[in-house]
Amino acid sequence: MITLAMDIGGTRMKLALLEDGKILKERMVEAYRDGKYQKNLDTAEREGRAMMAEMGLDRVDGLGIAFPGLVNPKEKVVVSANGKFVDAIGYDLKGWVKRTFDCPFVLDNDSNAALIGEVAYGCAQDTRDAVMMIFGTGVGAAAMMDGRLIRGKHFQAACIGGHMVIEAGPDATPCNCGNIGCMEANASSWSLPLFARKDPLFEVSALSGLEVIDYKNLKRCADEGDLLAQKLLKRSLDCWSANLCNLIVAYDPEVIVLSGGIARMGEDLRRPMEEHVNKYAWTPWGHPAIRLAANPEASVVLGLHKMTLDEIAGKNAL
Ligand SMILES: [Zn+2]
Repeated sequence: MITLAMDIGGTRMKLALLEDGKILKERMVEAYRDGKYQKNLDTAEREGRAMMAEMGLDRVDGLGIAFPGLVNPKEKVVVSANGKFVDAIGYDLKGWVKRTFDCPFVLDNDSNAALIGEVAYGCAQDTRDAVMMIFGTGVGAAAMMDGRLIRGKHFQAACIGGHMVIEAGPDATPCNCGNIGCMEANASSWSLPLFARKDPLFEVSALSGLEVIDYKNLKRCADEGDLLAQKLLKRSLDCWSANLCNLIVAYDPEVIVLSGGIARMGEDLRRPMEEHVNKYAWTPWGHPAIRLAANPEASVVLGLHKMTLDEIAGKNAL
């Protein structure tokens, strides 16, 4: 069975055609950043159809759509977008799919999909107790206990694990979710430029000459000896490690998977987090394994593929 997966993120969208847990064809497209979900869906449809045409397909068996916010996967509606795609909330996706691909489909949070993808086909196939940390525009999380994805009464358990609080007090950093002191307000792709620009070292840092302050550029500048870049990278690693300890306390995982664009840092990301967890996390049974997704750009679409196959087979227990 061939499924189409649409991972529509805050800055980019990844589209893929998959069969038997393998990506047959994929492409990455810039997402519109003006908050228009409809325009992104139109693009996803056009690009999806172009990939299908290249493979001589006029239909797919199922469709999986990931959203970088809170969704109700049972009703297949977006519940909260947290600043991204405000017209997505309550959008009639069932109607859109009927008008476009007219096939069975799933909608889920992107972090949840990423964890399912890694457990089904990726680096966590050997466990039923896993946690995902996925680094995109923000930082997403997901948790599986005894083979079951943790969802919660309102479908917001675990998947907003990047909004665990790591700073207390009235001066804690404001977050785009409305809370203060959230981890991703302290260390994520969206908050990084804010911290860089308000630092006294900014004027003398190579970061001040960059058009885009992202983790790819930050890592390069840090490797070249830029003091502010090194300071911000260290601070981010500390925040992510603290958050990982929180996720361990909450979900008792055996395996932790790091995915998303920033996971391309590889061992420079994984090793400091592993050292922190091994030193500080309260896990008397031993240490959770911390692994990098083999292809950090693929976790979500692999998970959407698995969820779509389950939906077609009537095995999606929601
Ligand atoms: Zn928050």
